[in-house]
Amino acid sequence: MKVNDFDVIIVGAGPAGLSFACSLANQSQRVLIVEKSAHESISDPQPDGRETALTHKSLKILQKLGVWNLIDESKVSPLREAKVFDGDSESLLNFQANKTSIDALGYLVPNNLIKLALYKKATSAENVTIINDLAVESLKTDASSAKIILSNGETINSKLIVAADSRFSEIRRKMGIPSTMKDFSKVMIITRVSHEKSHNQTALECFNYGHTLALLPLNDNISSVVLTVPTDEADAMLNMKDKEFCTLASNGFNGVLGEMKQIGKRHSYPLVGVYAQKFRAIRFALIGDAAVGMHPVTAHGFNLGLRGQDILAKAISKASYNGHDIGLDSVLKEFENKQIHISRLMYFGTNGVVSLFTNDDAVAKKIRKLVLKFADRFPPVKSLITKHLTESKKSNLIPF
Ligand SMILES: Cc1cc2nc3c(=O)[nH]c(=O)nc-3n(C[C@H](O)[C@H](O)[C@H](O)COP(=O)(O)OP(=O)(O)OC[C@H]3O[C@@H](n4cnc5c(N)ncnc54)[C@H](O)[C@@H]3O)c2cc1C
Repeated sequence: MKVNDFDVIIVGAGPAGLSFACSLANQSQRVLIVEKSAHESISDPQPDGRETALTHKSLKILQKLGVWNLIDESKVSPLREAKVFDGDSESLLNFQANKTSIDALGYLVPNNLIKLALYKKATSAENVTIINDLAVESLKTDASSAKIILSNGETINSKLIVAADSRFSEIRRKMGIPSTMKDFSKVMIITRVSHEKSHNQTALECFNYGHTLALLPLNDNISSVVLTVPTDEADAMLNMKDKEFCTLASNGFNGVLGEMKQIGKRHSYPLVGVYAQKFRAIRFALIGDAAVGMHPVTAHGFNLGLRGQDILAKAISKASYNGHDIGLDSVLKEFENKQIHISRLMYFGTNGVVSLFTNDDAVAKKIRKLVLKFADRFPPVKSLITKHLTESKKSNLIPF
């Protein structure tokens, strides 16, 4: 390839990298995405157990990108209510869409369908090229240009490199950007179940002592079971017989949905949170989980990634419109400042909630009872939490 073949190189074709490419679609920048996994894995992504809860803000961004209409509407499940229980105590926090002026707290969409829609949109743009089966091995940036070296030895130059290569980003490390990592030493196990009774589009979450269990309402009498257990118990849960696993999930909420039947594979995810110390370097930016890898309990990872890429794309478009170099530090700083503002409280706040709600010592149990009572009895507090978590202007936590 020739020098400066591309304006922007995106490392990673996960949801963040693809949505950023969609934001730059049909603009003047020549965009290259490099994805190390095989073509089939991104052109035909398979169910990975994740039912991604999207906020109102994310919906708007996906609509703006022309991605939302590529998702099969019948597979989108509105979340109308969420109830959070605290172990065996009476404490309960209840969020309802009909108590606010929004129709749903958020929307649950199978993660693979989001990825598929993003892939379709990105690849339909003439200015976007995707390379598969090759990893970015190394990169170098300076005041005038940026380059990557692929695993086949090829060098490609650009004006800007954007890393969206997951929370364990090698590219972040290669650029010398440190990050704060939190290993929760827990594993999230997810699967789909069908059940006898209706969930009324209500999510149930219980912080039991020892583990956390959530049921996310999907269309028809189907729910996603999300079980978080200490890492040393994960294998036993993954190997449990279907019937036994369903009984455990059902008993967690006193059989309120009736008998359950597992209808999908069980998937597992180790829980590690990551916050990069900065989101920019010379001609370089971090987006998605590579910048902020959230604990999934507040369902905000992709939502934050979507906002981050939107902010970066806007800063680039503005620079390009004004005839400026898109890799200028001032452009990247504008993105970084906004993204830190949006993500810092969400990341550290979520980790705080996780620490409090998964700590079984007597003082922590007392504090969380108080927190739940306080939040539930004071509508302004609840409204504030709802506003932050659903990202609707009116009122918005999608607590899973
Ligand atoms: C159990 C669970 C539930 C979740 N639920 C929600 C939810 O309800 N709502 C929500 O908003 N978020 C949720 N999330 C978070 C969301 O799934 C992530 O934020 C999102 O998938 C991150 O996307 P990404 O593109 O940043 O990274 P990834 O999806 O990790 O993609 C990174 C890509 O980069 C590629 N790559 C890596 N290194 C290289 C390299 N050197 N060269 C080329 N390619 C490379 C990888 O192959 C991969 O395709 C959940 C996460 C989990 C684990």
